[in-house]
Amino acid sequence: MSARNSNEELARTYGTPLYVYDLSRVRAARRDLFRWLPEGVEVYYAFKANPHPDLVRALREGPGPGCRAEISSTGELATALEAGHTGEEILYTGPGKTPGELREAVRGGLRRFSAESLSDLEHIGAAAVAEGVVVDCLLRINSATASAASGVRMTGKASQFGIDSETVGDVAAALRNVPGTSVAGLHLFSQSNAADEEALIGEFRHTIETATRLQEELRVPLRMLDIGGGFTAPYGRVGDRAAYPKLAGELSAELDLRLPGWREGRPRIAVESGRYLVGDSGTLVTSVSNVKESRGRKFVILDGGINVFGGMSGLGRLLPVSVQVDTGEPTEQASLVGPLCTPGDVLGRDVTVPALAPGDLVQIPNTGAYGPSASLQSFLGRPSPVEVVIDDDGSGDGSKVVVSVSRIERSRTYTERGAAA
Ligand SMILES: *Cc1c(COP(=O)(O)O)cnc(C)c1O
Repeated sequence: MSARNSNEELARTYGTPLYVYDLSRVRAARRDLFRWLPEGVEVYYAFKANPHPDLVRALREGPGPGCRAEISSTGELATALEAGHTGEEILYTGPGKTPGELREAVRGGLRRFSAESLSDLEHIGAAAVAEGVVVDCLLRINSATASAASGVRMTGKASQFGIDSETVGDVAAALRNVPGTSVAGLHLFSQSNAADEEALIGEFRHTIETATRLQEELRVPLRMLDIGGGFTAPYGRVGDRAAYPKLAGELSAELDLRLPGWREGRPRIAVESGRYLVGDSGTLVTSVSNVKESRGRKFVILDGGINVFGGMSGLGRLLPVSVQVDTGEPTEQASLVGPLCTPGDVLGRDVTVPALAPGDLVQIPNTGAYGPSASLQSFLGRPSPVEVVIDDDGSGDGSKVVVSVSRIERSRTYTERGAAA
């Protein structure tokens, strides 16, 4: 039975819009990423790409080295702990950590945080002091420069993320002396979705150089260096994950040059990845609700739009979505739109599609990252999509078995939280 047929069967059973995630692909992506990296480099999985518990568990568990967890909320904290991550394996990041969630994280056993500013570091320290512990903190740096190769134009940009590299020296003494915290290293995340291997390597080199210089300038310990990510994968489009055959060699050489103790874990080197690890595990199966023409253009209206996929880009902001379909013989051009009452509910314009009619299934490939949890699920009150996780059934012939069927709990009802005092 081909994967295509089984997705159609799953759609018949569970309805659409439907996500199907294949755990064998999650494991393959994890194996590949560790293979592209020098041995000993730690990988933090960015939960925001897809916090589905089965995917998180597959990334944490073997065979081979497992991923650690990069989280930014108490919801992600709960998922990480339930998946078996220990506090030691989790890095808590984000620009708006509240006192309440910091206390909860420290109580949950977390001892490693990324601090985005001096005041953020003080908030982390206050939570640690309240719980009677000292926590390790990475100083997140907003670098004033980027590598020429990366094409990232972050130079000098103001941001809620990180401490400006050009002024961090002014607060170095204060950063070193926040009660409840111990500065353990640096965290730089300067690009997502790198254009190619050269851009990725160039930016990592630049990051390592910046971190080495800052460490000397700030006189902070460097027990851990998180050099960020940028590993790429297609998003709602046909294609394969990138390959990085030169990365391990070039990254090792740069680390040997600047941080010669790294092979013994001085410092520990970490990278972060979301989309690369889960992107190609997912397929979004939608149904055509209607087809219409307007002023010479065809509109294929699907039963899921930016409420299920790419919601972060639906309002023309981040993560531009321009899907392709993986269904049938492509014969014509159409706009693929969702059911929401906003002209922003577009998954793709001028998409090449087969002749489609109401009831037909449309499969959108490479939708395992930034799907339901990154979409406008509450907008217009449609039910959240069912998410089916499948895996190899062990027969070795590619047949799949359903591991779980779930949907993100989302309510259209407003729950009374008690009257105002
Ligand atoms: C979003 C994010 C990631 C993951 O980005 P991908 O492009 O999905 O790999 C990693 N680290 C940080 C700090 C992020 O904000």
